Amino acid sequence: MRLREQFLTQNDCYQAGRTIQVQGVMVHSTGIDNPKVCRYVPGDEEIGRNTAGNHWDRPGLNKCVHAFVGRFADGGIGTVQTLPWNARGWHCARGQKGSGNNTHISFEICEDGLDNPEYFQAVYQEAAELTAMLCRTFQLDPLADGVIICHQEGYRRGIASNHGDVLHWFPKFGRTMDDFRQEAARLWKEDEDMTYDQWKEYMEQYRKELASKPAGMPELLAEAKEMGLTDGSRPRDLVTREEAAVMARAAANR
Ligand SMILES: [Zn+2]
Repeated sequence: MRLREQFLTQNDCYQAGRTIQVQGVMVHSTGIDNPKVCRYVPGDEEIGRNTAGNHWDRPGLNKCVHAFVGRFADGGIGTVQTLPWNARGWHCARGQKGSGNNTHISFEICEDGLDNPEYFQAVYQEAAELTAMLCRTFQLDPLADGVIICHQEGYRRGIASNHGDVLHWFPKFGRTMDDFRQEAARLWKEDEDMTYDQWKEYMEQYRKELASKPAGMPELLAEAKEMGLTDGSRPRDLVTREEAAVMARAAANR
């Protein structure tokens, strides 16, 4: 998943500042043929920029979701988070039994012409990864009843307005919402076991963090540097066998 954050702080929904106890995730799609996320957010270099001024970061729209999934500037697929996850979104109005706005995180998948299998597969996957991540964050079981639903399913449950999304789109490419839930559940479970690639990424991040920390014993380090035992850089980073050997050799040669 490629996740960026650009909160729509000028949107009345953001300004309302209400929060919810998250009980699920509602999947929407935009209903407009425009796969670019920057149609809906101001954007930037990576996301792409909205030049028409019709993004949702402005007052008077009466709608807002927590994220958009679609194309970024480089043509790749990504997600932009637009509200804090536990904010109360304005995404599904209400049905006879209440409103999913009070219970569900919402995201919009940016629609294209609904005729491109590659685009569909890419946003479907990104959306499933996002949903799995949210289920993990809020400790939701992806397969529990009513946790992951689309807008149309929300309507059938009496907690949303009567919109067709995403059931006018997924079936065109042989996918049901049950498939989507299964995929989210698979990713949710996979998350528990770190893969080798994930571990490498984690270690890289960890080392960057260590390398950015200042020395814990600056005077002693300065002395060691003076003695030629170390170059003094990355004082808190891990040491390799080679570096240890070089330091020991420098000490032995004194
Ligand atoms: Zn919808």
